[in-house]
Amino acid sequence: MKIGCHISVAKGFAKAASKAKELGAESFQVFTKNPRGLKPKKLDMGDADRGKAFCEEHGIVLIAHTPYITNLSTPKEDLHEVTIRSIKEDLTIAEAYGAVGAVVHCGKHVGEGEEYGRKRMVETLNLILADYRGTTKLLLENTAGQGSELGLTIRELTEIRNATNYPEKIGFCFDTCHAFAAGIWTEESFGALVEEMKETGYLDHLVAIHFNDSKVPFNSRKDRHEKIGKGEIGSDALALFLRDDAFAHLPIILETPVDDEMEYAEEIKYLHQLSQGA
Ligand SMILES: [Zn+2]
Ligand SMILES: [Zn+2]
Repeated sequence: MKIGCHISVAKGFAKAASKAKELGAESFQVFTKNPRGLKPKKLDMGDADRGKAFCEEHGIVLIAHTPYITNLSTPKEDLHEVTIRSIKEDLTIAEAYGAVGAVVHCGKHVGEGEEYGRKRMVETLNLILADYRGTTKLLLENTAGQGSELGLTIRELTEIRNATNYPEKIGFCFDTCHAFAAGIWTEESFGALVEEMKETGYLDHLVAIHFNDSKVPFNSRKDRHEKIGKGEIGSDALALFLRDDAFAHLPIILETPVDDEMEYAEEIKYLHQLSQGA
């Protein structure tokens, strides 16, 4: 297990990589570009190379995250085009940084219905991946099911991946908070969740875990992260992920709320304790 956290790239990627080391993180996540915008970003190859070399030297695993405002299921032609262009660019940036995966949120059908939304999402993924030859996988993240978000369940995510023309270019990122808020797991049903991940083949393509507690109760369909052990999921339930061999090879990324990234150093230590049953 490679325990780490989300880190800002405001001061460049190489700086973010050394910050990860400073925090005691064995993995980290960065946004490919401003998460609330889609402005194309000029990639600084020198910075990318320095950061990548640093990660390789220290055995740090990187996950990239694409901006939130794309929509893989949008019925609007203009947003559809922007989504495709933007995510293609994100994959190029993620690849240059040496990321094993680039996380994208599942589509929102915005009133067109789930069937339309899933079909459109598959169509969009095909267009994004048609001529993509990189090794960084595009990672579908499960959602909390806010509004018209798709991709709440393990089965649905697996079906979407299988329905595309390029399943080999797609992996998964599992967010513990989203899954709890979507009503798909609790401490009691953890075993059944892992079983479903195995049966559907989801686990074979799971590349990263977003490790968050939830401010909101089970099945409340809202995406509100909380620090580990301070939320509705609780540390006993979350620790199950850290102690199960099924996830032992994966990067575990904290996206919990902090005022200062230095707070992650403590939380990472806490996760190491939890993983050992302390
Ligand atoms: Zn997440
Ligand atoms: Zn979230």
